[in-house]
Amino acid sequence: MNSLSNLIRPDIQAMTAYHVTDVPEGFIKLDAMESPYHPFARQPGLLEKWQQYIAAAPLNLYPNPAASGLQTALQQAFDIPETAKIALGNGSDELIQFITMLLAKPGAAMLAVEPSFVMYRHNAALFGMDYIGVPLNEDFTLDLPAVLSAIERHNPALIFIAYPNNPTGVPFKREEIKTVVQAAQGIVVIDEAYGAFSGDSFLPLAGSSENLIVMRTVSKIGFAGIRLGYAAGHPAVMNELAKILPPYNMNQLSLATAKFAMEHIDAVNETVGLLKAERSRLFAGLSGIGRLKAFESGANFITVRVPDAVEMFEIFRKNNILIKKLHGSHPLLDNCLRITVGSPEQNDAVLAVLKQHLS
Ligand code: PMP
Repeated sequence: MNSLSNLIRPDIQAMTAYHVTDVPEGFIKLDAMESPYHPFARQPGLLEKWQQYIAAAPLNLYPNPAASGLQTALQQAFDIPETAKIALGNGSDELIQFITMLLAKPGAAMLAVEPSFVMYRHNAALFGMDYIGVPLNEDFTLDLPAVLSAIERHNPALIFIAYPNNPTGVPFKREEIKTVVQAAQGIVVIDEAYGAFSGDSFLPLAGSSENLIVMRTVSKIGFAGIRLGYAAGHPAVMNELAKILPPYNMNQLSLATAKFAMEHIDAVNETVGLLKAERSRLFAGLSGIGRLKAFESGANFITVRVPDAVEMFEIFRKNNILIKKLHGSHPLLDNCLRITVGSPEQNDAVLAVLKQHLS
């Protein structure tokens, strides 16, 4: 056999794997935008009802998402027009991967803003697309003229816009995103992973034009563990995507759980409401801390700039709190940290550490 270094693609050998952090026992985990709540554990009897529901899932059979009724349930719960076609992914990560694969013709380009979700750029590299990263303004708002001129210059086949954006959270204006969709000759994916927390959505426009795909995930609303994302778009594009998605990429337990969640959407929305209220309270608390700048967020996290992010990250660790150190990942994120909005107790712990060190 040839040595592995001769066999495996050199560009992949040069990559580093996405690091999933091991969290020590007892740590408050606020690094990955997970919900602190199990949505079915908050209403009497609901957890048991869900357990019975998934107990009936036919584990011996391959999953059939179309027959599961989940797409229709999503359509109803989230106001997705009937003209749109929905694709399901094993997390929206998987959909990002396959949408990129769909458009990665030799010489084709992907455009995204910077900083944004790192997997866009990663997938461009993986599938050999040219990547154009357009920097945000310093306050993390969209630099629309720069995006429009990059579209004109590079004619990207694929544009990803996280709306709200990760890792900054600062809302982009709806009109600006509409302008991008109108200007683009390629496909625009509006990634609404944090859409439940923003109060705005392009889902009602899904299916209305061939170049628009609206993507969501249930990960941030209490179901990171079931790995389920969905994308809604024009049938002409979604039928092509269907050709390359693995036939059995979803599993019976996730499909059943998501369907149950749609039937009990009130329980899910209740946790989203709690987190939105906590986001306001956390933001107010952060804004009152002298040597810290908190950026307004439409998502379930708040990005802050501190005098020394490396030191502050370590201080959080010593206090058994894990957050995300953004410093070093992009010049615009100098001395920035990203804090997931947690439960009231978790947010109080965050505020106490920051007040003690930065007031
Ligand atoms: N899009 C954005 C903008 C994200 O921040 C994330 C998660 N960090 C994802 C997609 C992927 O989410 P998932 O695979 O859990 O659906």
